Amino acid sequence: MREVQMTLLQSTLDDGPMPRLRAKEVRASAALSPSRLPGLRWGLNPYVGCEHDCVYCYAPYVTKKDPLAWGRDVGYRANLPELLAKELPLKRGVIGLGTVTDPWQPIEKTLLLTRRCLMQIAAAMAPVSALTKSDLIVRDAELLASLPRGEVGITVTCLDPELSAKVEPKAPPPRRRLEALSRLQEAGVDTYMLLGPLLPFLALNDADELLSEAASCGCRRVMVDRYRPRQGIETRLSSAGEFDWSCPKLSERDVFELCAKHKMKCESAF
Ligand code: SF4
Repeated sequence: MREVQMTLLQSTLDDGPMPRLRAKEVRASAALSPSRLPGLRWGLNPYVGCEHDCVYCYAPYVTKKDPLAWGRDVGYRANLPELLAKELPLKRGVIGLGTVTDPWQPIEKTLLLTRRCLMQIAAAMAPVSALTKSDLIVRDAELLASLPRGEVGITVTCLDPELSAKVEPKAPPPRRRLEALSRLQEAGVDTYMLLGPLLPFLALNDADELLSEAASCGCRRVMVDRYRPRQGIETRLSSAGEFDWSCPKLSERDVFELCAKHKMKCESAF
């Protein structure tokens, strides 16, 4: 991710019982950064940091930010839509919307930065692959459906709302995400569910239940991403609650087999 400069303490937003969000305007020097993720040519990230604050998030490590401040201090790139409009005619290839942040995290409800970027992408008829954990994306269903080449992944790591609240404390609960996936499909958006990372304490029957529920919500494609342990992530996971670390680890092969059972296509994320 390109380096950005924090310039102005713009606002402090009240976000409920959790610690208050500190939002700052960030001036980006470029909108589209080269991406090495499979299938993506560019990364587009309207925010720096992510309110969802998932304890397994790798993004602060990739972007060299403080993992403990990741969910509390969020920068918003206010000049991104204007930069994007200038870059789109020059930079061709699939744009990964949300490679190191969630573009539909709660602050987007107020700022509409992601929506304004999508409008530029639609005008340029550029290909985009978006990823989120938020049902706020349903707000943009019509816009997403109008894109000639667009797909949306919705991440769901487990079905249990209590487990989700421990590891993804500010993301919408899993069933709301599945409902969002269903509504996007109904709107005509090409969607898939990302099951990842495979939590080290997710049992086979938990994954079976989740994939069964996804299938009944109309999901036809699943992408699976394995868990990549890192020192900081292991520490954060261990302090997020009591988990059954002794349960047999799920493999990608297990998920492929479960997807076949529930008649869904399965792909490996990386
Ligand atoms: S939603 Fe994605 S970017 Fe945001 S904290 Fe969770 S894993 Fe990180």
